Amino acid sequence: MPDDSMQASANAVVAAGTYGAMGSANAAETYDAIVVGAGPGGSTTAAYLARAGAKVLLLDRAKFPRDKVCGDALSGKAMAVVKDFGLEAQIEQSPHGRINGCLFSSPDKKIIEIPFARKDGGGRPAGYSVRREVSDNVFFQYAKKQVARTIEGAIATDLIMDGDKVIGVKVRDTNDGTEKEFHAKLIIGADGVTSMVARKVGVGDLPPEHTCIAVRAYFDGIAGMKDFLEIHFLDEALPGYFWIFPLENGKANVGLGMIQKDITAQKIQLAPLMERIVRQNPLFAERFKNAKQLTPTIGWTLPFGSKIRKAYGNGYMLVGDAASLVDPFSGEGFGNATTSGKIAARIGAKAIMANDTSEHALSEYQRELEAELKAELDTSYTMQKLGKQKWLLNLVIGKAHKSPEIRELISGMLSKEEAKKELKSPLFYLKLLFA
Ligand SMILES: Cc1cc2nc3c(=O)[nH]c(=O)nc-3n(C[C@H](O)[C@H](O)[C@H](O)COP(=O)(O)OP(=O)(O)OC[C@H]3O[C@@H](n4cnc5c(N)ncnc54)[C@H](O)[C@@H]3O)c2cc1C
Repeated sequence: MPDDSMQASANAVVAAGTYGAMGSANAAETYDAIVVGAGPGGSTTAAYLARAGAKVLLLDRAKFPRDKVCGDALSGKAMAVVKDFGLEAQIEQSPHGRINGCLFSSPDKKIIEIPFARKDGGGRPAGYSVRREVSDNVFFQYAKKQVARTIEGAIATDLIMDGDKVIGVKVRDTNDGTEKEFHAKLIIGADGVTSMVARKVGVGDLPPEHTCIAVRAYFDGIAGMKDFLEIHFLDEALPGYFWIFPLENGKANVGLGMIQKDITAQKIQLAPLMERIVRQNPLFAERFKNAKQLTPTIGWTLPFGSKIRKAYGNGYMLVGDAASLVDPFSGEGFGNATTSGKIAARIGAKAIMANDTSEHALSEYQRELEAELKAELDTSYTMQKLGKQKWLLNLVIGKAHKSPEIRELISGMLSKEEAKKELKSPLFYLKLLFA
């Protein structure tokens, strides 16, 4: 994509002496787009923008491979981008857990297993769980090959403004200890839940009713593991859930998440509560008896898409957690980060090409983002609220425990977005009462 006009306008700004808030005389590097954060959202956006011809700088404060606290389950949406980038074989060859279904338990300890439909006659699993240290590096290395430049160990510390337009990023480069400035027509905030970009443009708040806190640890040797994602609704951790997700070689990702408002109201400390669940809950004490905890229990925040942020403005867009897009029922955010990245790149490339990255031009992003994700996020928000009713969880899982037809029905609902809407309907629960 031609960036002569960009260079010319940057030079003009230098000549006028207003170049960067610090008035640095050094010429800043200029790009079509700067992507702040190289997680799944940032790497996806950067790769698609570069593939559309844009000159892209992708930077991250971490050095890859790096860990990210997560459940590590890759959703269908994430796998769609993996496929688009031709990375399926790499994921398949990386250490991973195979996922062929979901197991739920109710507060009154009924268990149901819902197998997922397999797409290719049985060779490949229905889904994968891949440690983020691995999956994010696959995405990042792919993006690195597409973009003009990547800098790892580069902390974006502030935005550079020209009036009310974002025109660049200030960076502390931990590789050489220097402060740098980079300019671009478009800045993408893909810097996760603590997004500097979101904070600086005034949308970085985390309302406690739309924010989840979760802890995670890796274990080895849990008894009774299957190729199923395990989601347990437990009396001692409601509303919320405890999970066990299988990984490679008998390892597992184990975690516990609850909404921040409820954590505060119930004065809960998640890490000690998870320790108690693992050691004392009758469903798990025996299974964890000989298991070894491989990593400390670490907490992180999930910004729920029950309140999507305004994700665009004059010269910038936000993707993934920076835009608050995590599914408020399942806690999945990887796929919505890649989905939002793909949409942002399409709108962004068009805006760069037209030399118009104004708030008006970029507003199309919010419309497309919401057209793609809002109905699904709203359904999940309703399910999250229903899931706060202990009796309802006991009813649904208890009935499904007895009835293969109801398990079949739930299986269809988990795999088809259209069918999931039925879970919102009071009729569904009435039907269950009399099933
Ligand atoms: C405990 C837990 C369990 C979860 N389980 C799942 C799950 O099983 N499946 C699922 O789909 N989702 C899950 N999620 C959600 C998922 O982890 C996130 O939604 C996803 O990582 C969002 O991707 P992202 O690219 O927007 O942000 P991130 O993955 O957070 O990436 C942001 C990147 O920005 C970088 N960065 C941050 N600030 C700066 C800065 N100032 N300058 C430069 N770089 C910066 C960071 O180093 C990071 O690499 C879980 C989350 C948690 C906390």
